[in-house]
Amino acid sequence: MPRLLAAIESRRDELVALTQQLVRIPTTNPPGEAYRECAEAIGRRLARRGFSVEYVRGLGTPGDSDRYPRINVIARREGTRPGRCVHFNGHIDVVEAGRGWSVEPFAALVRDGRIYGRGSCDMKGGLAAAIVAVEALLDSGLPLPGALEISGTVDEESGGYGGVAYLAERGWFAPTRVQHVIIPEPLNVDRVCIGHRGVWWSEIETHGRIAHGSMPFLGDSAIRHMGAVLERLEHELLPRLATRTTVMPVVPPAARQSTLNVNSVHGGQPEGYDGLPSPCVADSCRIIIDRRFLVEETLEGVKGELRELLDRLAAERPGFRYELRDLFEVLPVMADRAGPVVQATLAAVREVLGREAEVVCSPGTYDQKHIDRIGRLKDCIAYGPGILDLAHQPDEFVLIDDLVASAKVMAVAAHRLLTLDA
Ligand SMILES: [Zn+2]
Repeated sequence: MPRLLAAIESRRDELVALTQQLVRIPTTNPPGEAYRECAEAIGRRLARRGFSVEYVRGLGTPGDSDRYPRINVIARREGTRPGRCVHFNGHIDVVEAGRGWSVEPFAALVRDGRIYGRGSCDMKGGLAAAIVAVEALLDSGLPLPGALEISGTVDEESGGYGGVAYLAERGWFAPTRVQHVIIPEPLNVDRVCIGHRGVWWSEIETHGRIAHGSMPFLGDSAIRHMGAVLERLEHELLPRLATRTTVMPVVPPAARQSTLNVNSVHGGQPEGYDGLPSPCVADSCRIIIDRRFLVEETLEGVKGELRELLDRLAAERPGFRYELRDLFEVLPVMADRAGPVVQATLAAVREVLGREAEVVCSPGTYDQKHIDRIGRLKDCIAYGPGILDLAHQPDEFVLIDDLVASAKVMAVAAHRLLTLDA
């Protein structure tokens, strides 16, 4: 084991170079630039190391076209004898660079022990660390039963439908072929992330009757009806959600409860013209609700609670009419803390960093949802280098020391998992 750790340490420059190579391929999503180039860079490298490499296009998934094909890469290497398969999954897409950078976003500049660039932290650094970890493990001479898999997948930032969801639907994450998954998302090198809260997005629309703005009493304002909804949310639902506790160790701690955000409000005439508006009573008002929920709650309960509040308002408030539309939903997931991948990774952090890792859950979702819900593979975590807060920010960077440390942890954890039955 010390030899394995030393071997990874000696590959520090190689790990930096691989991260730089990946960051310099600007896989911006949307629209999904350069996916093929990035997938093939990973595939070519692993093919040279004896992996069998397959490219799977998420045909017909959102955004897929011949101009922007959703190309995923999956590489597998069989071990010395049949056994468990440990899979590392990283998304290759990055969000747009945006404004406010002091360095070139896709140059992968190295300075002061950091690699700067869009995707360096979220999450090409983590993917590069997983690749180098696996390569060092293969070169270590340690007997390795089972199989090692690495995938680079698309569209995580836009829901993962052309990436992990597409692969999971086609059996790539079936528990018969993969047993343990580590997703090297940037959760910090001393945290093991076992899952995330659920999401329900919905739209509430209130209805009214149009009239002249100088005689509002002749109409019925949808905006005033929505005001009543917001008042109930503020004074009834939000305080109730704040009292719900959870066994989920969500970070930051303020997210360790149910939350609800009103993502937008639109009422009355549309904006976007230059002239003066005309005086009308609004006949429609819409809000988008972003509800994050816990493993202790059910999606039916979450929906029913909001509907009950609206129905009560309809019974009490003259003229109140509403529609509630579902937009998007993801159930919460949480891996078993006592399960193999959590325990192997905690032990690896102890061994490599000499300290206890914190077990956490993410406030928002990531591709674990598809592996869990569609793939039915429960032994899955996120563990990887990078500071979560830097994701999607200008001047995103990853610390080179963290890259190396996480590669060591991933190699040790993978070895433990492969040899569990030995
Ligand atoms: Zn990510």
